Amino acid sequence: MAATAAQRWKVGDVVVTSVVEEQTDHVPPQFFFPEATPEAVARHGWLVPDFADASGAISLRIQALVVEVGGRRVLVDPCVGNGKTSNLPFWNDQQWPFLDNLAAAGFDVGGIDEVVHTHLHADHVGWDTHRDGDAWVPTFTSARHLYTEAALEFVRDPGGYDNANVLRESVQPILDAGLADIVAEDADLGDGLRLEPTGGHTPGHVSLWIESAGEVALVSGDFVHHPVQCAEPGWSEIGDSDADEARATRRRMLTRAAERDVLFIGTHFPTRPAGRITADGQAWRFTPEA
Ligand SMILES: [Zn+2]
Ligand SMILES: [Zn+2]
Repeated sequence: MAATAAQRWKVGDVVVTSVVEEQTDHVPPQFFFPEATPEAVARHGWLVPDFADASGAISLRIQALVVEVGGRRVLVDPCVGNGKTSNLPFWNDQQWPFLDNLAAAGFDVGGIDEVVHTHLHADHVGWDTHRDGDAWVPTFTSARHLYTEAALEFVRDPGGYDNANVLRESVQPILDAGLADIVAEDADLGDGLRLEPTGGHTPGHVSLWIESAGEVALVSGDFVHHPVQCAEPGWSEIGDSDADEARATRRRMLTRAAERDVLFIGTHFPTRPAGRITADGQAWRFTPEA
């Protein structure tokens, strides 16, 4: 399959590139948002066509971002990966041309300096490792892989739906290789990169602020999954470990994003994932960049 041209955005002197693993269209919204119905999605006409179809079925994307700043290449949330074990059939033992897409976007696996994880769900850590015979080995062998303490504690709890698989196949090999760093949930990563704790979806969940030359961007992670949650911030997502905290985080961060007029990059937003958040009555609206 031919790789499509990568989407890129400038934030001051920083360049952010989307590297897509997969986008799925025409998904019934209640599959991810139990409080949703197609009719309720379809009432928000601004979602069509980039984010939903006219019937109210939604699109979702799994993508990583490469942030280029000060000579560093920082990879954020490296997707599901190939051949991974998952309790979710659509993530189990898949084969995607993600590394081809990464290369086509101009990035070598050996040239990644850091990997930032907003959290340790299966769709945010997968490419950290790949299979070599019977072993799972690091992919980004020159990179420091950043984790928060609470996120590691969470993934070590076998109660989560895929935690045991994620730990065994995607996290433990990085710890064993000495490629991991524990960082604070509000860590200053230098060059205008800063984490902010955005808990609720999982313990230890963080989002990434990017500031450069007077411009600001925010990479959401999973405190919001789809633009419809700007209009319906009360809708929880099936993976939210604390739905009430997730709702509070979503409202707090969407309020800030609207006030600061940031370039908002939705980690699972499909089609045109970067844009502006604006207040819209009691909720918000997302307007993608042209
Ligand atoms: Zn998640
Ligand atoms: Zn996710």
